[in-house]
Amino acid sequence: EGVHCGDDVAKKIPSAIMLSGDMPNPNSFPFKTASFTIDDGTTIEIGEDLMKRALQYSETSGIPELLSWLKDLQKSLHNPPTANYSPDQGQMEICVTTGSQEGLCKVFDMLVNPGDNVLLDDPNYTGTLAALKALGANIVRVPSDKSGIIPKALKDILFKWRPENGKKPKFLYIIPNGSNPAGISLSTDRKKEIYQLAREYDFLIIEDDPYYFLQFVKTKAPTFLSMDVDGRVIRSDSFSKIISAGLRLGFLTGPKPLIDRIVLHMQVSTIHTSTFTQASDLDLLQTNGLILVVEFYRAQRNTMLAAADKWLKDLADWYVPTAGMFLWIKIKGISDTHQLVMEKALEKGICLVPGRGFHRDSSEPSPYVRASFSFASPIQIDQAFQKLAELIRENMKC
Ligand code: PMP
Repeated sequence: EGVHCGDDVAKKIPSAIMLSGDMPNPNSFPFKTASFTIDDGTTIEIGEDLMKRALQYSETSGIPELLSWLKDLQKSLHNPPTANYSPDQGQMEICVTTGSQEGLCKVFDMLVNPGDNVLLDDPNYTGTLAALKALGANIVRVPSDKSGIIPKALKDILFKWRPENGKKPKFLYIIPNGSNPAGISLSTDRKKEIYQLAREYDFLIIEDDPYYFLQFVKTKAPTFLSMDVDGRVIRSDSFSKIISAGLRLGFLTGPKPLIDRIVLHMQVSTIHTSTFTQASDLDLLQTNGLILVVEFYRAQRNTMLAAADKWLKDLADWYVPTAGMFLWIKIKGISDTHQLVMEKALEKGICLVPGRGFHRDSSEPSPYVRASFSFASPIQIDQAFQKLAELIRENMKC
C-alpha cells in the first residue's frame, strides 16, 4: 500500500468523494505555472493543470507518461532479449529514481548483507565504494587494463574461489563507458565474455552507465542489458550529464522482481522522485528529444588530450577516454599524488583529484590524478597542465 493509504483507491473511482487520502490540496500550493527557455530560444510551458500534478505526490515507480517514454527509449536503444525470461522474471521493468545514485544505493541495499562478496574493478567510483563499504560488503578486486575488466582474470577469481572465501560473489558492478575515474570503456568482446561468466557462475551484473550518452565513438557499444537473455542485469541510467544534475533524474531497468523490490524500498524512503522534475524533464524530452551534448564533451576531451601531449608527454601516462569526462593520469616518478594535489597543486591554483580515494583501500598510495574536462575552458586546461608539468618537474628534483 505504501505511504499514501487511500489515495490509490480514490484514483480508481474518480467520481467518489475523497475523504480517504492523505494528499495535500494542490489548490493551496503557491506555484501556478512555469515556463522554461531552452538553448534555441523556444519555451516549454507547464500549465495550471500539469502544475497541480507536478506539485503533488505521484506513483512511486515514476509518472506513467515518463515511464512509457523511458520504456520506448530502452527498447529502441537496448532491446533487451526478454523473450526467454522465465515467468517469475517477468518482463523488463523500469523505475524512475532521484538521480542514479539513489537507484544504485537502493540496489545495493536490496542485495548486500554484511560480509557478502561483490566484484569491482579498481580504481572505482567513490560513491559506489562508500555505499558498499557502509553495507559491510567485501569488495573483491577484478584486474582491468585500458579496455576494462580482463575476463580471463575474472574467470580465474571465480574458478579458484574457495568456500573459506565465503559465498560466491553476488554481483559484478561495472561502469561500462568512460568510467569514473579512469575514463575506460569496456570492449564489446569483453562484455560478451563477462556476461557468459555471469551465467556460468550465476551472479548479477549492475551496469552503471551515466556516461552512455557521452560516447565519442560513432556507434554506441552494445550494453549488458542488450545481451541479457536471462534477467541478470540491472542497468542504471542518468540524465544528470545531459539534462541537469540538480534536477536529479535517473532510472533503473531490469527484471520485474528486482525492480519491484526497489519500488517497495522507495515507497517507504523517498516515496517517489520529484513529480515536478519528472514532469519538466518529460516536457523537454517530448518537445526536443534527447539533448545531445556529446560534441561539447568531445571537443573538451580533445583539448585536454592536446594539452596533455604538449605539457605532460615525458612526465605522465594516460588512457585516451572514448566516453565520459575524465582523464586518468599516471604521474611518473611519484608513488602517491595526495600531497602533490592537495597542497602543491592547490597553491599553484589547480584543482585535481588525487588517485587514492578511488581505490578500495583509500589509504593505499596512488600515482594517479583525475582531471575532469567538463568545466575548464580550453585556455584554462592548457594553463593547468603547464602548471602541473612544472610541479612534477619540481617534485622530481626533491
Ligand atoms: N555513477 C557514476 C559512475 C558517477 O560518476 C555518478 C556521478 N558522478 C553517479 C553514478 C551518480 O550520478 P547521479 O546520481 O547524478 O545520476
